[in-house]
Amino acid sequence: MRTPDAVTARAPAKINAHLAVGPLRPDGFHELRTVYLAVSLFDTVTVRAGDGLSLALTGEGAEAAGGPDAVPTDNRNLVWRAAELLADHAGVRADATLEIAKSIPAAAGLAGGSADAAAALVALDALWGTRADRDDLLALAAQLGSDVPFSVLGGVALGTGRGEQLTPVLARRSWHWVLGIAGEGLSTPSVYAELDRLRAEGRVPDGRTLLPAEPVLAALRTGPAAALGTALANDLQAPALGLRPALRRALRAATDAGALGALVSGSGPTVAALAEDEPAAVRLAAAMAGEGVFRTVRVVAGPVAGARVVPG
Ligand code: ATP
Repeated sequence: MRTPDAVTARAPAKINAHLAVGPLRPDGFHELRTVYLAVSLFDTVTVRAGDGLSLALTGEGAEAAGGPDAVPTDNRNLVWRAAELLADHAGVRADATLEIAKSIPAAAGLAGGSADAAAALVALDALWGTRADRDDLLALAAQLGSDVPFSVLGGVALGTGRGEQLTPVLARRSWHWVLGIAGEGLSTPSVYAELDRLRAEGRVPDGRTLLPAEPVLAALRTGPAAALGTALANDLQAPALGLRPALRRALRAATDAGALGALVSGSGPTVAALAEDEPAAVRLAAAMAGEGVFRTVRVVAGPVAGARVVPG
């Protein structure tokens, strides 16, 4: 079969409607119980036939949160690592030019790097004709990072283990959110380290009993938006607020502006604010933008599908 000359795939950002973090495990990871929701903010990755690997980065997200140097363009980039991993797995040469068009800001708690890795796996699988099935892709994704399998899967899912073990959740409707994006990113490891510090000092619960995800799952299944707004929970919010006190004002700005609920997304610093419906989200976005605490605000909806080839 002839393989294509170029393939483009896109993958969504995620928010965690629920994120319960257990104690630090001996392997250096934390046990998680999280509810992922894929939202309509996408990065795209275009791959072309090449000799060896090369990587270029374009798009507004490339220079956003974290500064222009936050996203590496060498073999530290998750897209590059995805290419090497898939080539190795499939026994083909890692030959491709890789281009990431970033809309998802880096180091924002929106799994932008994971989305890029997921899109790269799907695009390169098509370019190289390696025909990995979904389970293969999910297993490779888990080797790249805890959030990458969800970026492949999309939709809504319960994540356990370090977040990579997924159970899809049926969502009966779409939810409308406003993302309040800060000017500077937060490093995920530093937020976990701050959580461990707060726990060692007894300033937050120790996480031995993981906060149950049922209230959020029930609200996603049957609830009015207000029930989901009340159920949102994130153990990383306290350490993110500790490292970035201005986030407290950002959360207040979202609730003052009429959000049904607001929380720090993942390790932050993005604030995800829930609205009743799309017109309410547009109004909420305008009000949040007017507070002057966010670099930018985006109206998104979810669940949306995971990493997919974009028909050319
Ligand atoms: P998560 O929510 O999964 O914890 P995040 O959204 O906070 O992650 P990412 O945007 O995934 O953060 O990036 C975290 C770090 O990963 C960046 O600061 C950067 O150094 C590195 N990185 C590697 N590859 C990429 C990529 N393709 N896009 C963004 N960051 C990348």
